[in-house]
Amino acid sequence: MPRTLSILGATGSIGVQTLDVVMANPDEFRLGWLTVNTRFDLLEEHLGRLQKHGFTPQGVVIADESAYNEFRRITSFKGKILCGDEGVCEAAAAPENDILLSALVGFSGVLPNYAAIQQGTPIALANKETLVSAGAVIMPAARERGVEILAVDSEHSAILQCLAGEYLEEVEKLILTASGGPFREWTIEQLENVTPAQALKHPNWSMGNKITIDSATLMNKGFEVIEAYWLFGVGAEKIEVVVHPQSIIHSMVQFCDGSVKAQLGLPDMKIPISYALSLPHRYPSNFKRMDICALQNLSFFPPDMVRFPCLRLAFDSLAQGGTAACIVNAANEIAVASFLQGTIGFLDIPRLIETCLEKITHIDTPTLDDIVQTDKKTRALAESLVKQGMSVPAVLMPKVNGAATNPNLVSS
Ligand code: NDP
Ligand code: MG
Repeated sequence: MPRTLSILGATGSIGVQTLDVVMANPDEFRLGWLTVNTRFDLLEEHLGRLQKHGFTPQGVVIADESAYNEFRRITSFKGKILCGDEGVCEAAAAPENDILLSALVGFSGVLPNYAAIQQGTPIALANKETLVSAGAVIMPAARERGVEILAVDSEHSAILQCLAGEYLEEVEKLILTASGGPFREWTIEQLENVTPAQALKHPNWSMGNKITIDSATLMNKGFEVIEAYWLFGVGAEKIEVVVHPQSIIHSMVQFCDGSVKAQLGLPDMKIPISYALSLPHRYPSNFKRMDICALQNLSFFPPDMVRFPCLRLAFDSLAQGGTAACIVNAANEIAVASFLQGTIGFLDIPRLIETCLEKITHIDTPTLDDIVQTDKKTRALAESLVKQGMSVPAVLMPKVNGAATNPNLVSS
């Protein structure tokens, strides 16, 4: 029987690759809802493509109001059309959904994912920021309702595959691999002058802008450590990061007898997306195959948390618990957007986060509302810090020796 799949973030990098998986497996799925933010024209294009493959979603949501109005003007789509954040939550919690692919970016995923859990719908989760910000509320809610949260992120998909048939008590370590991003070998002096265009060029993966910048700062890997903590329920001390520039081994698990399992594959997100939707089975595919004999010199290094302080900040926030990681995520979202707009430098990203961590009140055992409020307050603080810095751009430039001169962006 085909299952009804809804996709949050259908115009994004993960969303579009999910549509490819759906079209390659037409007997497995019906489409429920597709949600987007502003790119209504792209949505229209995908609706046309889907129709040619015999798929008509039940409804669509355009979160942004003016894009919603534009879409209504141009579209021939006959299904339901909703607008706003409420519309996204309604699509996430639609009773007809058998499974939800959650690929919104950032904190915008928290409330829709929570709504899906309340409805009892299993979630194939790409939107890691939901677990980073709100894992302490999301995971207990999912457990209470018996809702499965299935990993889409390639590292977590690898771990899930390594854990199949194993006992969690016998896991010694989860080893997350990181490509190291485009600046793996850059000095701090070089990192000072990184431009958005340079940071947007990932060596191995083609992804949305926000996660591409997170990969360049290694914040993405830090978030994945937190994501692994919530998804697999192992202690933070059992999660390790190793830099593996070739992105062939997607992650590993070490067991109590010293054995290590790894999952390998070409860097293609359609494989983990497909696995999250098919597990415990696998859909046959014609995705490009890996030529084992062509693999030369797979290498591994420990990460450098001095040149990449975002990774350290993520580990620290996980150790601190409570709302610490929520603060890191919110400050990071503002920092990344500001970096992309050219208003702060690459090394200002961790400084801004660290300042927010120092200044925002920490809550040890937060409710969902505490998390929403902490996210709001942190964004407001981060935005005002960026604005103050913007009036004195010269001072905002990161200092190589670590002695930041802007009092608003002091690093410890
Ligand atoms: P993209 O930026 O490519 O896409 C994001 C999608 O979410 C788009 O459809 C966008 O709509 C929509 N969206 C963005 N903001 C909002 C909002 N405020 N309200 C409603 N909808 C919104 O992101 P990616 O696909 O790269 O990433 C999605 C998630 O998956 C992230 O959490 C990322 O960390 C994670 N991930 C991504 C990987 C990848 O390879 N891309 C790999 C592993 C994890 P619109 O197009 O209209 O802007
Ligand atoms: Mg990943």
